[in-house]
Amino acid sequence: MDRARPPVRDRSDPRTWATARHEAGHSVAAITLGIRFRTVTLRPLNPDHAGAVLDVRLPPRRPLAFATICLAGVAATPPRGAILTEADAAALFEHEGAGDLRLINKHADGLSRTALVRLFLAAANIVRGTHADAVDDVAHRLVHHPEQTLTEAQVRVIVDDHQPGGISHLIRQMEAELGHGQPFGATSTNSDPSNVSAPLTVKR
Ligand SMILES: [Zn+2]
Repeated sequence: MDRARPPVRDRSDPRTWATARHEAGHSVAAITLGIRFRTVTLRPLNPDHAGAVLDVRLPPRRPLAFATICLAGVAATPPRGAILTEADAAALFEHEGAGDLRLINKHADGLSRTALVRLFLAAANIVRGTHADAVDDVAHRLVHHPEQTLTEAQVRVIVDDHQPGGISHLIRQMEAELGHGQPFGATSTNSDPSNVSAPLTVKR
């Protein structure tokens, strides 16, 4: 059977953006919880899926962390700023989160409804609160990427870039201030090239 990738999703279709936000939510939550995956895509081979996070490595003995990343897709789907009520969440799970709930039942079986609601609120706090900028950015890049696919490493860089106070965020800021492509040490008055090429070592 031919398992060719589906064509690139229509960038002007709101459903493409909903899928992008949903998958961005899963992938950003996975990064924050240290759960590994290979890629996130809007073009999975399985025709039943609109999007997917592929090759998620199940964290041993961390079913709640896994359940949280499953819940983060629906939590991220409504556009930024929309108020997500419990009724909205229930409708979203019926409409597009059924596969996510099946995964929770398979790998994090026995969670009470109360526990699921607590984890859902925690997931929403990540994807609509602390990491909302990263989710927006991942969704945007997924939609506009030629393959509509990002690797885990690419998502990680985006998450780091939006982490206020993080080193990646600081470096981006400084790069913008200094101008890209500035050779290291170029503005220094010290002309000794050994200062520029000094290896990064830690003295004992
Ligand atoms: Zn999902």
